Amino acid sequence: MTALFYVLVALFGVVAGGFLARAAYAIPRGEYKQILAPRCASCGRALPFKYVVPIVGAFLLRFRCPSCGEKQGAKTLCTELSFAAICALLHLYYGFSYLFFLYVVLGGVLLVLSLIDLDIREIPHSLLFLILLLGVMTFVFSFFSFSLSNTVWWEHLVGAFVISLPLFILMMLTGGVGGGDVKLMFCLGLLLGYKLTLVCFLFGIVAAAVAAVILRLYAGKGGKYQLPLVPFLSLGAVAALLWGNGLLGLLF
Ligand SMILES: [Zn+2]
Repeated sequence: MTALFYVLVALFGVVAGGFLARAAYAIPRGEYKQILAPRCASCGRALPFKYVVPIVGAFLLRFRCPSCGEKQGAKTLCTELSFAAICALLHLYYGFSYLFFLYVVLGGVLLVLSLIDLDIREIPHSLLFLILLLGVMTFVFSFFSFSLSNTVWWEHLVGAFVISLPLFILMMLTGGVGGGDVKLMFCLGLLLGYKLTLVCFLFGIVAAAVAAVILRLYAGKGGKYQLPLVPFLSLGAVAALLWGNGLLGLLF
């Protein structure tokens, strides 16, 4: 029975992941129809409906647009598999609790944000607002102490500023940090509380540093590639949700 639940959760993740991948393309361009009826990003021709089928679609496409031959489908497949893994792992740690549903929504929004940041280096305010809304909800819940998690209201308030404020100061002084990253850490901090926010940022920065070193090795010293931070902060957030409490339990 438990195994069946994992299969169902992963299946949901695969199906929802396809929608998230298309949403990441459609939202910044305002072409919302493409969430249901995708077009080739290169030639603009509509892709037949069978290519929307989760996982199978990418293979039916042979990872190329049938009209122009441009690469297609790999990103969607990766998103489907990633979101399935995120959903299954969250179920492993949170069962079917209120937090599971909250974090699945958060994971989905973060995945879309990451794809958009990788794609066009933008962080849409509409998606940040969704995370802020989840954060405010969690804060209000914990304030009226019918908190379903084990956090206290001030932990969320401190969380909102613990990383975003230093990042904001760094942005003002050096300009090396994007305003979107500061806003994201504010919203995430409010939702996660300060402990998990610290874990999230630590994971994220280490992952970004490793990626930067690998890129430097491959691209050489001349390669000027500005690393987008949102995917790494998102990775950190998911890692904090899964292992943050266990890690903090070991340390304190
Ligand atoms: Zn095409």
